[in-house]
Parts: sequence; C-alpha cells; structure tokens
Amino acid sequence: MKIIEIDEKKCDGCGTCISKCPGGAIQLVDGKARFMGVSLCDGAGVCIGKCPNGAITIKTIED
Ligand code: SF4
Repeated sequence: MKIIEIDEKKCDGCGTCISKCPGGAIQLVDGKARFMGVSLCDGAGVCIGKCPNGAITIKTIED
C-alpha cells in the first residue's frame, strides 16, 4: 500500500497540507507536520503538490 512520508527537515510547519488531506492523516505537532497513521491515509497524495517545500513524498509499504 502507498502512504505519505514527511521529511521533518524540509517541513517548516506552514500547515498547508493539513487542510488538503481528506482523511485527516496530517496534524501539526510541535511545529512540524506529523503523519497520524496508515489507517487515515488513502495514498492518493493530494497533499504532496500542496507542500511548498517538497517535504511530502509517497512510499510503498507492506500491507
Ligand atoms: S505543507 Fe509541507 S512545509 Fe507545510 S506543514 Fe505540510 S509538510 Fe510541512
């Protein structure tokens, strides 16, 4: 399955990705976007193009 991965070093905590995620899979914690769990992410990657810093990528994990 596909899920997102957030590069903390690139994330500046702008929060843009959070409102773009229909599943609520991203939240801001201590000024960084955090992935809230596989069950919330449909892997569509809607958030990826919204990050101004290129901090979000898709990765494939075992089901
Ligand atoms: S859009 Fe990018 S820089 Fe902004 S909070 Fe999300 S991951 Fe971080």
